Amino acid sequence: MAVTPYYLSLIDDSSAGDPIAAQCLPDLRETDLQLGGCEDPLDEERSMAVPGLIHRYPDRCLVTVTSRCAVYCRHCNRKRRWQQGERDASPAEMEAWTDYVRKRPNVREVLLSGGDPFTIDLEKLDRLLHDFRSIGHVEILRIGTRMPVTMPVGIDDDLASALRRHRPLWISTQFNHPQEITDEAAEACERLLRAGIPIVNQSVLLRGVNDDYDTMRELLYGLERISVKPYYLFQCEPVMGAMHFRVERRKGVEMMDRLWGSVSGLCIPRFVYDLPGGRGKERLDGRARNGDRDESAD
Ligand code: SF4
Repeated sequence: MAVTPYYLSLIDDSSAGDPIAAQCLPDLRETDLQLGGCEDPLDEERSMAVPGLIHRYPDRCLVTVTSRCAVYCRHCNRKRRWQQGERDASPAEMEAWTDYVRKRPNVREVLLSGGDPFTIDLEKLDRLLHDFRSIGHVEILRIGTRMPVTMPVGIDDDLASALRRHRPLWISTQFNHPQEITDEAAEACERLLRAGIPIVNQSVLLRGVNDDYDTMRELLYGLERISVKPYYLFQCEPVMGAMHFRVERRKGVEMMDRLWGSVSGLCIPRFVYDLPGGRGKERLDGRARNGDRDESAD
């Protein structure tokens, strides 16, 4: 486990089942193997074209820059990697990624993920972004990070100005509960937005954290207020050690139906289920049921 002092300070000690505590403090249910699940529900390890690079869709790929995070979220779908300890990709691995992408003109978008890419040395991150950016057919860079949520002080001016140089660059982050939308988090997002970097949010539907209408509505309104676009709400994957977070699909669908009827479209995310092996996303929200697939997004 790891929790930043900041994220720990968001826990309300007086409330049993606090949504911040649930996301960052270990729970005995994580060790209950009878709850089922698997280590790699998205089959990512088998989709690695070269070590650390996942290529599941023709036009984009994902690189796992580090296994380190500021906070280890108990619901993480890459929990399996924690067993390997905290490790950044080596310069040789990074070179293999850029070589791979350079030879594949179909790849127009590269997503830096992890772990949290913002935990690596800034110079190293800057170099990697520069190397991808210098490949002519790579049009878009994206970074997946929870740093604005779990350690907003890490989004400083040096980071924002380094990122600005590599635009168009998008950030996807993961706010899951309105208690996470603090002044500090808003300032961190503002720093990125001022650098010309748009931010989208990919929440996970989590039992006891955000699986009720009022909490979800407050979260979506809060995101809209800090100019972070709610993009996806993910059905929690069947991850071994995170099964106690899973919410019945039907409940999620009902909540989203209610939100569709009462909240501005600007703050409505798509409710989706990520299918293993690059088979796209199954849309679960009120506008596309019956197993509709969304192959265009990740
Ligand atoms: S920040 Fe992301 S990668 Fe890291 S533990 Fe949380 S969900 Fe997993």
